Amino acid sequence: MNTATHDLIVIGAGPGGYVAAIRAAQLGLNVACVESENALGGTCLRVGCIPSKALLESSARFAEARDTLSKHGVNVTGVSFDLAGMMRRKEDIVNGLTHGVAGLFKKNGITRYEGRGRITGPQRVVVEGTDGAALSAKHILIATGCASASLPNVEVDGLYVGTSTEALAYDAVPGHLAVIGAGYIGLELGSVWNRLGAKVTVLEYLDRILPGMDGELAAKARKIFEKQGMTFRVGCRVTGARKKGKGAVVEIDGAAPVTCDRVLLAVGRVPNTADLGLETVGIDTDSRGRIVVDERFRTSAEGVYAIGDVIPGPMLAHKAEDEGVACVENIVKGYGEVNYNAIPGIVYTHPEIASVGKTEEQLQQEGVPYRKGVFPYLANGRARCIGETEGFVKMLAHAETDRLLGVHILGAHAGDLIAEAAVAMEFDASSEDLARSCHAHPTLAEIVKEAALAVDERAIHI
Ligand code: NAD
Repeated sequence: MNTATHDLIVIGAGPGGYVAAIRAAQLGLNVACVESENALGGTCLRVGCIPSKALLESSARFAEARDTLSKHGVNVTGVSFDLAGMMRRKEDIVNGLTHGVAGLFKKNGITRYEGRGRITGPQRVVVEGTDGAALSAKHILIATGCASASLPNVEVDGLYVGTSTEALAYDAVPGHLAVIGAGYIGLELGSVWNRLGAKVTVLEYLDRILPGMDGELAAKARKIFEKQGMTFRVGCRVTGARKKGKGAVVEIDGAAPVTCDRVLLAVGRVPNTADLGLETVGIDTDSRGRIVVDERFRTSAEGVYAIGDVIPGPMLAHKAEDEGVACVENIVKGYGEVNYNAIPGIVYTHPEIASVGKTEEQLQQEGVPYRKGVFPYLANGRARCIGETEGFVKMLAHAETDRLLGVHILGAHAGDLIAEAAVAMEFDASSEDLARSCHAHPTLAEIVKEAALAVDERAIHI
């Protein structure tokens, strides 16, 4: 077996791991990255964020041609789609990006090992697979991400009952798709298949969709998705699901079972910590199996760090990336941190839903006095020109200091607009700071400015 010594071994080449590896190489470390998949980029690039956004875009364009282009005076007849073509486009994008990461590894002199990495003792990692090797390094970074959570009695067979991985690659539009869970994945992939003609029923345990997001946004979003044709059954506890004939059946506590063609299980994700050899060096995990780290991403084992979905916090690619950078900067430079109050979250439905900072419910629970400014897309000139008038920006600022506490956007391009709010919060801006910054006209960004003005009850266009 090959042996080698590096300064840093990163286990996992998702957005957390590969970004950490690149940053560490930039800082002069001799870096190895161990990844069991042939393609780099992790769940996000291969079977998550990227392929889902590719399908969301293709399906949105189809739906636009079918439903709304005529409002622009553009007549198209006989609109149809080629599912295989959409899937090929998605795969081309994924291939391009995963090869791009391989190119970045090469450029930065990162040694890539293909195989499963497992810690075998202090400073030691074994690679099992194509590039079998026994490695040693002063620093080991665990960035192994997460996997779909299971649900008791939900029998995932990968065809009739599957997870997001399968729902990103159905070979035909299901007649009826039952989605378990009204979170990020359920709404995004439910939207894709709804646009392409499936009947979509979303079964959600709680009494609302998108738990954790601002309640006012989630309630309005639900109404919009219902108008788009999706059905929501909230307060609905799924107790089982399995293949039945050429379809599937989903059992619900206290209600009749739902029969459908396919089931998408999207009830959250669990950290990938099994068979990593954590016990060989004494790494602590919490009650949910997440690796416990301090503010410098150090685990309870000397020289072993962890970032991303294997540690607490939102399971988001950009959070993992920022943690990866902060972690290796800490190792090399002695400083580096992540501001957990300013991590945006985006649901890429249409319209998009984007959020940063505290929700109104959180502020109420915490007893924080706040002022609220809301401005609708409908009152914005650009929104009217592009035909995207649904939604609003909601800004929450401290009642005494005016410091921004949370910004929540439901509407077209919310995912891009939220960046301004995240930067503002990173700089501890007040709502007045945003309100007094010049925003170009006519842009959707003016909705953010007007919401900031509305905090002080001085919005202009309403
Ligand atoms: P989620 O946590 O967003 O939503 C899961 C939903 O399932 C919740 O609403 C929960 O109440 C519900 N649920 C749980 N048990 C249930 C039961 N027995 N019956 C019915 N409903 C039940 O999880 P997800 O949608 O699977 O996404 C997983 C993670 O992936 C998320 O944490 C998210 O951060 C990440 N993700 C992010 C994006 C993005 O950034 N756009 C996209 C996809 C996934």
